Amino acid sequence: MEKKDLALYPFIKEASAYVSNLGFSLEQLISSRALDSVRSRGVERVLQALKGEIYKPQLLSSDDSKIHIELLSYPFSRILVSCIDDNFLIRRYSLAEAVSCYDLLRFESDEFIRDIASDFDIGVHIYNNSFDIHFTDYIRLASSMKALEWKLVNRKLHKGHVYISKEELARLLQEAIKERIQGSLPLDVPQDICQMCSPYISQIHTVMQQMKETFGSGDFGAVESDMFPPCMMHAISNVRAGVNLAHSMRFALTSFLLNIGMSVDDIISLFNVSPDFDLEKTRYQIEHISGSSGTEYKPPSCSTMRTYGNCYGADELCSKVKHPLTYYKRKTWFKHKN
Ligand code: SF4
Repeated sequence: MEKKDLALYPFIKEASAYVSNLGFSLEQLISSRALDSVRSRGVERVLQALKGEIYKPQLLSSDDSKIHIELLSYPFSRILVSCIDDNFLIRRYSLAEAVSCYDLLRFESDEFIRDIASDFDIGVHIYNNSFDIHFTDYIRLASSMKALEWKLVNRKLHKGHVYISKEELARLLQEAIKERIQGSLPLDVPQDICQMCSPYISQIHTVMQQMKETFGSGDFGAVESDMFPPCMMHAISNVRAGVNLAHSMRFALTSFLLNIGMSVDDIISLFNVSPDFDLEKTRYQIEHISGSSGTEYKPPSCSTMRTYGNCYGADELCSKVKHPLTYYKRKTWFKHKN
């Protein structure tokens, strides 16, 4: 593989061998002035991961310096995550690294994607516009996907192999990457090394605490969450507990939050708590509901919510409204009037 590819997929075995051969010691990685940019990028990687997405640079084969920064920043970011040793951070970091690779893999050549799969001991056969993998690999990697199309009974099987598209293979590899990174963290980093990293760690700690408070306390920014109707509060607590919402409730909650002014990014962050979170798909769905397709959707009325079993915990104010948005508006109005 080319050096620039190792920098974009730094978790593969060839990339770690390449980094080892560069011969930098742990102390140099932490304190050498020549590696300042590596450490800055390492911190940036973790901060971007906390916000949901790691942005990969455009790399040319001749960009030796940028390639080395990208390659070495990966072990440095893993050291930082390991020193902090927090499950929330480990999950978010692993997921973000994996998602950023999914975005790249979809546009790689068929042979390249097969080579990445082989790094995970996943055998891939290439056909015209499609691939197959053994059903045992498929079941392992697709087990956390909830959509019906991922169920094995809905797939075309031939002699123990499952046919998949390139996009689906990239999505399954995202799972494999996340498993590998998450399973390898935290690293056993000596205490004195963590001590040397403390200025970087405190930056990450601050952002991480803010995020935990935001998503743990019900602070929805400009939106007043204590004014939400019971059905929406119930759905939000389910999302936070990692329960997958029914499609109709997911739509109701998303359209409700968009209509009261919550941003697409904040809604993505709200949904970004489950291990099978699919950033690309969630963004697409939320943007679609927000009107990117030309139609701006309103949440369903209370009677439709009841029909789908999504009306939950109705209170006194509910008996006076016919729409969850009216509930929010009335309650907000009463609050500011008094
Ligand atoms: S009555 Fe309407 S606003 Fe109240 S919980 Fe049911 S669906 Fe939500």
